[in-house]
Order: sequence, then C-alpha cells, then structure tokens
Amino acid sequence: MSRPVIAIVGRPNVGKSTLFNKLIGERRSIVEDTPGVTRDRIYGVTEWRGRKFSVIDTGGIEPKTDDIILKQMRFQAEIAIESADVILFMCDVRTGLTADDKDIAIMLQKSQKPVVPCINKCDSVGAVPFEFYEFYELGFAIEPIALSSVHGSGTGDILDAVVDSLGEYAEEDDDDDSIKVAVIGKPNAGKSSIINKIIGQERLIVSNIAGTTRDAVDTHLENEHGKFTFIDTAGIRRSSKINDKIEKYSVLRAHMAVERADVCLIMIDA
Ligand code: GDP
Ligand code: MG
Repeated sequence: MSRPVIAIVGRPNVGKSTLFNKLIGERRSIVEDTPGVTRDRIYGVTEWRGRKFSVIDTGGIEPKTDDIILKQMRFQAEIAIESADVILFMCDVRTGLTADDKDIAIMLQKSQKPVVPCINKCDSVGAVPFEFYEFYELGFAIEPIALSSVHGSGTGDILDAVVDSLGEYAEEDDDDDSIKVAVIGKPNAGKSSIINKIIGQERLIVSNIAGTTRDAVDTHLENEHGKFTFIDTAGIRRSSKINDKIEKYSVLRAHMAVERADVCLIMIDA
C-alpha cells in the first residue's frame, strides 16, 4: 500500500534538510545507499500518529549550480506538485517574507495540493517573532506554523497539519485492490515496451488516469486473472541539460514506485 508523500520546498538555506533529517531521524533510506546519490539523502520515511509518510527533500535533488534561485525553485516546486500529496513550504523568519518566497507560493498555489507554510528558525521559546505574521500574506488555506528545525519544536504541529490536510486519503487508497506491479530498470531496458506489449496482447481497455504524474504513468488492466496496475518508472517527461538532476529524480521516482508496488519487475537489457 502506498503511503502519503510529503515534499519539502523552499529557498536555499531556509532549513529544509535540517527538518528532513529531523523528521526521518535515524532511519536509513535506500536512496542513501545507492551509488551516485549517497551525498544528499533526499528520501526517507517518518511516522506520526500511527501513520507512515514518505518525505522528499526537494532541495537535495538540485545540484549546486549557477542557476538562478527561481529556476531551482521552479524545479523543486514541479517535483513537489507532481510527486507529493502534501507540500511543506519552508520559509525563514529571520529574512522575513521575500520576493522569491512569494514567487514560489504562486507556483504552489496553482497545484491545488495542500500546502503547509512552515516558518523556520523561530528558535526562541514563547512568543513568535513579529516577522512571523508577515507570512499570513501568502494566503494559503493552512495557516503558517512556527518551527525550529534545529530544536525540533513545531514539527508536531506540522505533522498534525499534514494528517489533517490528507483527510480521506487512506480511504481512497483502500478502494484500489489491484495488484501493483512496478517496472524498474535502467533507461532503455524496455520498461514501457513490456507494459505496452502486455496491454496490447490483452486487447483490453487501458486507462491512463490523468492528474499527477504518479497516476499518469499508471496503467490499469483487468482480465480473467485479476486487476493489475503497472507502474512505469520511466515516465519522466522532464527534459534537462543537467543529467545528474534527472538521474536523482529518476532514482527517487523508482524508489517511490517500489514502495507502492506489491511486485517488482526488473528489466535488464541482455
Ligand atoms: P536548506 O538549504 O533549506 O536545506 O537548509 P539547511 O537545512 O541546510 O540549513 C541551512 C542553515 O540554516 C544551516 O546552517 C542550519 O544549521 C540552519 N538552520 C536550519 N534550521 C534552523 C533553525 O530552526 N534555527 C536556526 N537558528 N538555524 C537553522
Ligand atoms: Mg538542503
């Protein structure tokens, strides 16, 4: 069964990775042990009120480049919008609300996904700094939450907001009784081809449910053997000159597919 995905988005140095590490604690993720992506752990699991969540540090996907911040932010926001069920939008109370924060907020607002504004570096106990109130201007449905990633204060409030915003997520999930098959493997191994072949041979109606990319790459099939959902991890539509970025993103996507799957099909090019 798939677990809800939380993505952390925000400008550099607002404290995304610090929160990410706090949330996933000592848990090791497979991504961490994958060659090439060992430096930045970007994927982990956390638990709150008896529910498990996958957490993505979108900032870790972006290699240090000379890209302007907004370009990086757009990439992060896209990943979050495509992959996440809830987005943690992190800002820094010390810098106050910046123009970049506002730009990111506009991108996130278009997504229709729940966005939790996390105002970080509210380190002092007691009253929040005056600047905290600026962030109400962002206008998200969920009110800003003060936290200190370093101290860990406020993380419970954030996870409460995540759970509340998910609402009926779990119920919807239970409706899907199909056998989930993740098709994983290197680029060009033939992942999409095998799925197309299976579907073609069965001559059955195939639906690609629109919506998030996660759904868009799901192929549903029903025959005398049962109901199946094929998850094609190759369904990455993004094009970019930076290979490393793509690589990390595909590893992340594959990882998420494996988590959702009941069975994995590993394609190897002979
Ligand atoms: P990222 O670029 O958004 O991933 O930010 P990092 O997690 O790498 O943090 C950037 C800097 O902010 C580091 O020096 C952190 O120690 C610091 N930082 C992160 N969270 C807090 C916090 O809650 N309070 C304070 N005072 N500093 C923080
Ligand atoms: Mg980081």
